[in-house]
Amino acid sequence: MGPTKAIVKGHALYEAVGGKLIRDGFTSQREIEDYVNHHYLVLPVVDNAGRPWLLDGKLIYCLRGVQYETVDDRRVHLARCPDCGGMGIRSDEFTVESDCIRCTACGHEFDARLEMMET
Ligand SMILES: [Zn+2]
Repeated sequence: MGPTKAIVKGHALYEAVGGKLIRDGFTSQREIEDYVNHHYLVLPVVDNAGRPWLLDGKLIYCLRGVQYETVDDRRVHLARCPDCGGMGIRSDEFTVESDCIRCTACGHEFDARLEMMET
């Protein structure tokens, strides 16, 4: 089992699946992130502007810094856009040979293998 996927609503943290309250009464986003970092929790991935990634209307979580999953534990092949931090989707329907990733937010295309080598 990975960390518990959580969502933020107002000043409270809830479990993303089932909606159970984890903790209420936070006063800032920083406080929420601090709490998440010290517990076995993970928050949805957001881009540089703070907008959450959505795939088919579902929030995306990043586990162990590398593995992306939807809220219902489906592993997805995504990559973070180096420009805007938006969600990059593999365009493998057309280009099976390459590992081309296209950002859904700004349209930037990049190679996922390159990004992995740089980090
Ligand atoms: Zn982008």
